[in-house]
Amino acid sequence: MSKWVYSFGAGKVEGTAEMVGLLGGKGANLAEMAQLGLAVPPGFTLTTAICSHYYQHDRRYPDGLKAEVEAALRRVEDEVGSAFGDPEQPLLLSVRSGAPVSMPGMMDTVLNLGLNDRTVEGLARRSGDARFAYDSYRRFIQMYGDVVLGLDHFLFEDQLEEVKLANGYTLDTEIGAEDLKRLIETYQGIVKDQLGKGFPQDVHEQLWGAIGAVFGSWMTPRAVTYRRLHEIGEDMGTAVSVQAMVFGNLDNKSATGVAFTRDPSTGEKRYYGEFLINAQGEDVVAGIRTPQPLTIAMKAETGGALPAMEEVMPGTYAELVAVFERLEDHYRDMQDIEFTVQSGRLWILQTRRGKRTIQAALRIAVELAEEGVIDRDEAVLRIEPASLEQSLHPMLDPDAPREVIARGLPASPGAVSGQVVFSADEAERLGGMGEAVILVRVETSPEDIHGMHAARGILTSRGGMTSHAAVVARGMGKPCVCAAADLVIDYRQGRFTAGGHTVAKGDLVTIDGSAGAVMLGAVPTVEPQLSGAFDTLMSWADQRRRLKVRTNAETPDDVRTARRFGAEGIGLCRTEHMFFNDERIVAMREMILAGDAEGRRAALAKILPMQRQDFAELFEIMAGLPVTIRLLDPPLHEFLPDAPQEIEAVARATGVEAATVRRRAAELRETNPMLGLRGCRLGVLFPEIYEMQARAIFGAATDVAKAGGRTVVPEIMVPLIATTRELELIKAGIDAIAKEMMAETGVAIAYQVGTMIEVPRAALRAEQIAALAEFFSFGTNDLTQMALGLSRDDSARFMELYLARGIFAADPFSTLDVAGVGALIELACERGRRGRRDLKLGICGEHGGDPATIAFCEQLGLDYVSCSPYRVPIARLAAAQAALRS
Ligand code: ADP
Ligand code: MG
Ligand code: MG
Repeated sequence: MSKWVYSFGAGKVEGTAEMVGLLGGKGANLAEMAQLGLAVPPGFTLTTAICSHYYQHDRRYPDGLKAEVEAALRRVEDEVGSAFGDPEQPLLLSVRSGAPVSMPGMMDTVLNLGLNDRTVEGLARRSGDARFAYDSYRRFIQMYGDVVLGLDHFLFEDQLEEVKLANGYTLDTEIGAEDLKRLIETYQGIVKDQLGKGFPQDVHEQLWGAIGAVFGSWMTPRAVTYRRLHEIGEDMGTAVSVQAMVFGNLDNKSATGVAFTRDPSTGEKRYYGEFLINAQGEDVVAGIRTPQPLTIAMKAETGGALPAMEEVMPGTYAELVAVFERLEDHYRDMQDIEFTVQSGRLWILQTRRGKRTIQAALRIAVELAEEGVIDRDEAVLRIEPASLEQSLHPMLDPDAPREVIARGLPASPGAVSGQVVFSADEAERLGGMGEAVILVRVETSPEDIHGMHAARGILTSRGGMTSHAAVVARGMGKPCVCAAADLVIDYRQGRFTAGGHTVAKGDLVTIDGSAGAVMLGAVPTVEPQLSGAFDTLMSWADQRRRLKVRTNAETPDDVRTARRFGAEGIGLCRTEHMFFNDERIVAMREMILAGDAEGRRAALAKILPMQRQDFAELFEIMAGLPVTIRLLDPPLHEFLPDAPQEIEAVARATGVEAATVRRRAAELRETNPMLGLRGCRLGVLFPEIYEMQARAIFGAATDVAKAGGRTVVPEIMVPLIATTRELELIKAGIDAIAKEMMAETGVAIAYQVGTMIEVPRAALRAEQIAALAEFFSFGTNDLTQMALGLSRDDSARFMELYLARGIFAADPFSTLDVAGVGALIELACERGRRGRRDLKLGICGEHGGDPATIAFCEQLGLDYVSCSPYRVPIARLAAAQAALRS
C-alpha cells in the first residue's frame, strides 16, 4: 500500500532531507530539521506522488488519502493541545507548497487556516487579545480569497487602505479590534459578491480547498513557463506541507524574519538577514513595512535607524545563531532560513540552500573547503561553470563621470546600462529584439519573471535585500538595485522622477548593483578585477583538469584577455578577420578583382607584410604556447560590396573599372555560399592565397626566433577538407614554402599541418586524412550545419517551434547534438587515431565553451577545447568537473 502522508515534529518524524523527490524541498527539510531536534511546528506533508496521481486521474485524489490526512492531523492536535475547528481551543494551520526544486509560480502559502466566525472568538479568548485574533482572521480571508478562491487581492487591499486612510493610520498595526471586525465583514461581503456564496466556514472545506489549490497551481501558466525555461519535468509534481501555526504577530515579543548564514552578495562569513516585530509571514518580503536588520554590524553598515534583533531580542538572537551554526554544519553549505518568534519562543519554519551571487558562491566554496567542511574537489564541483560568466562581467569605469540620481540597496552586483521600461511585457518585447533594457518596478512579483529574464538589470523602489527582486536577480546573475526610495514611479505616464530628474520610458540609465546606485545615461564600464577566491578555486580546478583550454581569437586585445583568463594557446585564429580593416580590404579586393594569378600575387604581396606582423604579435603574446592558424575560409564575395555606391568606391580605391567590379561580384555570387567556393577549395583554385599565408606564418615564426622569443610551433589548419586529395595538394604547397624559406633564412622552423573536421565526409574518411594531418580540430558549427542539413543563420525562425515540439531538446548550435554530431566526432576520433596514433584532437566553435559539450570531449579523450576569451574560465572549470566526474 502506498503511503501518501508523512508527519514531522509531532512525536515522530517520518521523513529526511534525502526524500526531496517525494516530500518536496520544503517538506523534506522540515522533516530533517525536526529530526535534528530543532523547534519546528508540527505538521505533515502530502507527497508529490499525490500530485502525479491527481493529474493522471482526472484531478482526483488517491483512495485512503483522506484517512491518512485525518490521522496526521490528529497527531498535530495532540502535540499542540488544540483541535482543528474547535470553538474554544482552535488549531490553526499553514498550508505550504514545495516542489523538489524551488520554483516560483507555485501557490503562495495560506496562513491562519481554521479560522471562522466561531473559532476566531475562541482564539481571541484564549490569547486574551481580540485585536490579534481579528487581524489573523482578516489576513486569512484575504490570503485564502486571493490564493485559493482566485479573487484579486486589490479588492481586499483597497478596503484595508480605506480604513487606514479614514483613521489617519500609516501602519497596519494601528488598526484596532473593532475596525478589524468591521473589515472582516466587508471582506466576507466581497467574497459573497464575487462568488455568490459566503466565505467557507467549514474548516475541513478550507483545508481541502487549500490543498487542492496547491496541486492545481502545478499547472498554472506561470509554473509551466518556469519549468520550460528551466528544463524541469512536468511529472515531478509538488508536495503540500500542512503545519501548525506559530504567531509572529501575537505581541511585541513576537517577530518573523529571514536570514542567511553567510552574506549572499559577497559570501563573507557573517549572519545576514532582516526581521519584523509583531508581524506575520510574508510581511518581511512584501515590503509593507521596512524590516529591521538582524545584526548590529548590518545596522551600522546600512546606516539604518531601526534597532537590530541582536539588540532588542538578545536572548532569542543567540538561540537563532546556534541554529544557524547547527544547520550550516549539518547541510555543509550556506543556508537561507525563515523563522518566527512567538512571545519570545523561537520557531524555525524553513531552511534551504541559500541563493547567492557567483562572487559569493566562489568565496563560500573556497572558505568551506578551507574550514575543512568540504574538500577541494567538492568546492570545484559546487560552482556552476556557466555562472562564472557573471563574475567576469564589467563594472563601472572608476574614472567615468556619472550623475547618481538615486541610491538603493546593492542587491545583485555588476553594472549595466539600458533603456528604462516599466513592465515585464515591455522588457520581454524589447529584450527579445536585442535591446538592452532596465526593468523598473515599485517591486517585482513572480508574474514579472519573463521580463526579468529579458532585462539586463532590475531596479525597484521598494523591498529589502531579501525581496523578490533581489533574490531572483541574484539567482539570474543580473545587476539589481532595490529599495531606491527616492524613485517615484508613475506607471501610467511611463516615467519616474528621482533627484529632481524625470526619466521617461526609453531613456538610458545605468545601475550599479554592487554599490546600489542609479545613474543617468550610459556610464562606461570596465573589466572586473577577479577575486582571490576566483583564483584559488580556478587553481584547484586546474589541478584536476586533463583537457587543455585554448581560445578562439585573432586580435591582440582578445588574445591578451584570453591569456589573462588562463587560455593555454590559440585553438582557432580566423585569418579572414585580419583582412577587414580599411587598409587591407583594398588589397584584398584588388586580389579578388585581379584577372589572373600574377595580378593576385601582386595584391597579396601588399598584404603579406601586414599578415606577418599580425602573426608575430600573436606569437609574442602567446610566448611559446600553441597557436593554430586557420587559412582563409569564407567565400570571397564576403569581401566585395553589393550596393552601387560602394561598388563605385571600390572601383576608385582599387583603380579597376566599376563595370569590372560589378561583373566580378556577380560572378562570385553563389546560390548557396556555405556549400560553395570557400575553405580549402579557395586554396585549390587560388594556391597563391594560402602560399602568402604560409609565408606570413613562417616569416613571423622566423622573426620571433631571431628576436630571441620563445620557440613557436605554428599549427597550420586547413578548413573544410572533404577528401584526402584536397589536403594532399594544400599540404604540398605549404611544405614547399617552408622548405624554400628555411633554405633562404637558415632558420629551422618546426610546424604542423592539420585540418578541421567540419564536413561529414571528412569524419568518415578520418583514418586516411589523419595519415596526412598531424591534428584535427572539430569545427562543430559547420559540422552541425552539414550533419543536420540546417543553416545556423536561417534556422532561427523555426528553432523555437522545433524546441517546443520536442524535435530538438536544445538548440544544436549552442549545445552539441551528442547523439548525431557527437557520433560523427566519436567516429572521427576513432578512425583518425587509427590513421595516426598520436593524432592531436581538439574542438573549436561555439560548442567549445559549453559545459555539456566539454564533458563529452572529456569522455572522448580530446586534447583540448577552444572557445571565446570570456568563456575560457568556464571551460577550465567545466573541464575540471568533467574530469572529476569521469
Ligand atoms: P515560500 O515558499 O514563499 O517561502 P512558505 O511556505 O515558506 O512560503 O511561507 C511563507 C511564510 O509564511 C514563512 O516564511 C513564514 O513566515 C510563514 N509561515 C509559513 N508557515 C508558517 C507557520 N506554520 N507558522 C507561522 N508562519 C508560517
Ligand atoms: Mg519560505
Ligand atoms: Mg567552418
